[in-house]
Parts: sequence; structure tokens; C-alpha cells
Amino acid sequence: MAFVGVSAWSTVTGVRGTKCVEKRRRCTVSVVETPRVGSVRTEPLKEKNRGREPVLHTEGDKLQDEPWMIGSVLGAGMLAAAEAISLSTQVGSGFGLATALLGVAAGYLFADAGSGIYHWALDNYGTKDTPVFGYQIEAFQGHHASPWTITNRGLFNNISRPAIVGIPMFALMLAFQMPVAVEAFLCTTVTLSVLAQEFHKWSHMQRPSAPVKFLMAAGLLISTKVHGQHHRNPFEGNYCIVNGVCNDFLDRTKFFRKLEGLVYALTGNTPICWDLDPSLKVEALGESST
Ligand SMILES: [Zn+2]
Ligand SMILES: [Zn+2]
Repeated sequence: MAFVGVSAWSTVTGVRGTKCVEKRRRCTVSVVETPRVGSVRTEPLKEKNRGREPVLHTEGDKLQDEPWMIGSVLGAGMLAAAEAISLSTQVGSGFGLATALLGVAAGYLFADAGSGIYHWALDNYGTKDTPVFGYQIEAFQGHHASPWTITNRGLFNNISRPAIVGIPMFALMLAFQMPVAVEAFLCTTVTLSVLAQEFHKWSHMQRPSAPVKFLMAAGLLISTKVHGQHHRNPFEGNYCIVNGVCNDFLDRTKFFRKLEGLVYALTGNTPICWDLDPSLKVEALGESST
């Protein structure tokens, strides 16, 4: 799944007692214990982000670009470019072009929905000690406590982890010939999944660039307004962060409450959002549930 590895933010459980200071962009960064997500105030996103120093909570997290980050992003970028060129030589015109465009549109939707499901899972289940996903779980949940920190990350730092996952996927696409529509779908899905964290970062910026603002207004990238609706206690909706087009449908149909009910029925695990707002459990399990 292309959403594995979506970046490093902060943590909900915190790194107890760690005191570390690093310098970047004239900011002092302290690793401190993070408050429980439920204690985060629900002020508007732009106010929440305004003029605050970055705060790191996840052990090993940092704001500087490291060589492995630059290498993974450049590697994924070069493979993505090679795949795009390869695809363009196969598309041709007429029917081929139409199916390729269909694949791109489907990939755009799928990447957005996938980003929401992945985000929902990491926001609500597991801890920093969860195998494989522990670092990302800390990062996603901690992002609620200090959402402004992501704006202090450069491109390489921000998307290096998903880029690592994208490298073998682009390589496989280059290695195997597929129908144009399928290849366009996969290429779009993986590319947008790798870039999702950057789109997410832009939605937190006080002053995104003019082209980004235009793409947000056109509905092609997740906007500050739409993503701001996620940053409200109990963080129970608006999980999609590519362009957010799937948010309304998923929330209106109570897709995530149904998933939470299914997880509860199968495993007995309850999501964090139920702790923050017990009425969500009632909503997920039915009015008669307690
Ligand atoms: Zn979240
Ligand atoms: Zn956010």
C-alpha cells in the first residue's frame, strides 16, 4: 500500500523527560512530553499555528535534512519521472489517452481516500511501541498537539519516509508492462501518496505560495479550511489529506464509525476518538450500546 511510511511528525505519548535542543531557522526545538490529544485546545488552525516554535516529541525526529532523506526523495523523483516518460510513450492518442486520463482521475480519488483511511488508523490505534508503525503512530497523534511543527520541515525531511516506500513501487511499474489505464492509476496513486505529507504541510502554512493557493481553491489540493476541520477535538473526521474530495462522502456516510465498529467487533480495540468523545462509540455501535 502506497501510504505506508507517511512521514515524521510528533507524538501523543511523548518521550518522557528527554531534553534536547537543536537549531534550525532560528527556532529552538525542545523534545518534551506531549499532552494527551484530548487536552488540545480547539482553536482555529491558523491561530493554532501562528508564530509558534516547532516542537518535536518523537524520539529520533529532527527538522534538518539528512543525506538519506535527500537520497530517498531524489531517487523516488527520478524513478517517478522515468515512469511518467515511459507511460507517455505508451499512451498515444484517442482511446489510449482517454483511458490514461481515467486512470489518473481514479488514482487521484483513490490516493485521497487511502490517505484518509491510513490517517484514521494511525490517529486512533496503537502506540509508539506498535511494531513497524509505532514511529508513524506517535507522529500522527502528536501532530494534533503541535500542528504548526510540520511547517518547519523542508521537502526532503517531510516526505523522505513515504519516498522510501515509493521507490520499489515505481521500480516495479517500470519493470512490468501493464495496460495504460492501470499504469496511469498506479503511477498517480503512488506519486500523490508520496507527496501527501507535503500537501498536508501546505494546508498548515500561514502563507502558502500563489500556485498552491490556486490549486487549493481549485479543489486539487487539500485546503487550510478543509483540513482545519480535522484539527478539532475529537479528531474524528476529515482525515483525507491529498485533496480532501473524499472527506464529505466518508464523513456523511459515517464510514469511519462503521470501520471502528468493525474493528471493535473483531478485536475489542476502541479508537482514541471514542475516548475523547464517548458519543462516537454510541454512534458507531448503535443507540442501544453503552
Ligand atoms: Zn489527525
Ligand atoms: Zn494537520
